[in-house]
Amino acid sequence: MQHKTPRYQVRIPDKYLRTSAAELGRLAAELKARLGSDLCILGHHYQSDEVIELADLAGDSLKLSQLAAQQDQARYIVFCGVHFMAESADILSSDEQVVILPNAQAGCNMADMADADGVAAALDELSAISGDARIVPITYVNSSAAIKAVTGRAGGACCTSSNVRNVFEWALAPKAAGGGGAEKILCVPDQHLGRNTAAAMGYGDDACAIYDPDLPNGGLSADDVARATFLLWKGFCYVHQRFTPAHVKAVRRRHAGIRVIVHPECPREVVRLADAAGSTEQIIRAIQQAPAGSKWAIGTESNLVNRLAKRYGDQFIRVLSDAPALCMTMHLINLPHVVWVLDNLAEGRVVNQVTVETDEARDAKLALDRMIAIKAVRDVTKGKPD
Ligand code: SF4
Repeated sequence: MQHKTPRYQVRIPDKYLRTSAAELGRLAAELKARLGSDLCILGHHYQSDEVIELADLAGDSLKLSQLAAQQDQARYIVFCGVHFMAESADILSSDEQVVILPNAQAGCNMADMADADGVAAALDELSAISGDARIVPITYVNSSAAIKAVTGRAGGACCTSSNVRNVFEWALAPKAAGGGGAEKILCVPDQHLGRNTAAAMGYGDDACAIYDPDLPNGGLSADDVARATFLLWKGFCYVHQRFTPAHVKAVRRRHAGIRVIVHPECPREVVRLADAAGSTEQIIRAIQQAPAGSKWAIGTESNLVNRLAKRYGDQFIRVLSDAPALCMTMHLINLPHVVWVLDNLAEGRVVNQVTVETDEARDAKLALDRMIAIKAVRDVTKGKPD
């Protein structure tokens, strides 16, 4: 499958790298005014403050997918996030719109842990050793357009951490009731999101089995597959996997009355100990609704946590671990790259356009549309031992 999406980032001219942040901010505001309604800048919550200040709209993956689909005015969508998000925006926006990723190297390590051929092979293998059980792929939006296309063709859907539970429930509902008719779900690529969601739905650990793409049949026997309802691709997010039960215990020892809230990409042992788990949007809502004086340790990306700490100065808010939890690829989007993109647009040049090939986009859209039709869960999941 041919991709036109760039993965190699040309070195931007030195003048952008030598200019102060204050001057770049001023230039960006000037260029935004010149480009007017032709331009919409979308910013993921994990971006730095200086980038979020430039964004017209901010959100998590689900919200940004929906916002991208609603942008009917802007000719140029500058996506300050990572590769897979820009691909989704290209799939969901109109053919006339151009989606731009300011730094072509801003990928997602978790998304890169799975590939389309591997997912198609996994579906064949698992179906064969399970005696043709109906296995429906549910693919986290943190995945390439090519995997989303495999998912769409196989009757599956995408999900985000905001709506994953509802998507799993849809997949397991009978076809006659409008569901996906799955006997089993292949959850790609984040094992932790799959395991934590299965637990929140009341399933025990034995309902989950890890599919290791480096091993024949994923390292699973026919009995393993027969026992499992959730077949979990062996992928993870290094930003969230770094949180440990020791962090939860330490923060509780140090701050009496602190509540721990974590993202479901964290390992099961961490989610089990936390007071609550939720997507980025669900975490933000929990903080918004909390009274002054509340104390929180948050297990997710540091840029977002530090921004919440600044915005809600009447609460005590900290990252769960002492060391920062930074997504290094999100960090590749910075003011110099954004201003470089805007400067080029103002001169009539498009750089770093993200384009998904037509057939792939059509099939990936099936999976994205199924996801968007399924409602997101508003609030965090309360922690309870299992
Ligand atoms: S925080 Fe994790 S899942 Fe999100 S973009 Fe970074 S590596 Fe990918």
